[in-house]
Amino acid sequence: MSKLYVISGSSGVGKGTVINNFLSKHPDFKLSISCTTRNKRDGEVHGINYFFLTKEEFKTCIDNNEFLEWAEFSGNFYGTKREFVESCLKQGNNLILEIDTKGALNVKKLMPEASLIFIAPPSLEELEARLRGRHTESEEAIQKRLASIKLEIENSKQFDYKVINDTVENAVSRIEEIIFNE
Ligand code: 5GP
Repeated sequence: MSKLYVISGSSGVGKGTVINNFLSKHPDFKLSISCTTRNKRDGEVHGINYFFLTKEEFKTCIDNNEFLEWAEFSGNFYGTKREFVESCLKQGNNLILEIDTKGALNVKKLMPEASLIFIAPPSLEELEARLRGRHTESEEAIQKRLASIKLEIENSKQFDYKVINDTVENAVSRIEEIIFNE
């Protein structure tokens, strides 16, 4: 039976790398593509990384009840389309949602069978260094993201599993253990 996994982690924790590494080893898992109102980063492609929407388009989707969950994060909106998740699961695919902790807890309420995995940094200092090293955000955006980290760690206490991202290989093996032992 197809299963839904929700993976969250603080900004800069490297969850994208961990998830991509996992997906390259397990092509039977699909990654959900979210909608967002944030600006495209270099190299990002509409329909692959995100569906990039204007605030107006996003609001229309909210009004039409098209989102399974949505959240405001660092001044931008992010949401998962209900239709995307349902059709993936119906087609028998295991699906991973990479969303923030608030969104993850909302999904758990709607779909209690979903497993929530939190990817944590080895330390907060390292996380801040990674966030700055990425050079993709302004200082103001970095400050906002740092402020949201505390809340995410608090929310993660309600998650099913916590994985420390000390190295990508370790984090991926731990996720494999979780998923294949369930
Ligand atoms: P980023 O701007 O770095 O791509 O993502 C910022 C945050 O938004 C990350 O924590 C990411 O997991 C989260 N996010 C991405 N898509 C969604 C979504 O569809 N719903 C929610 N709630 N959060 C999302």
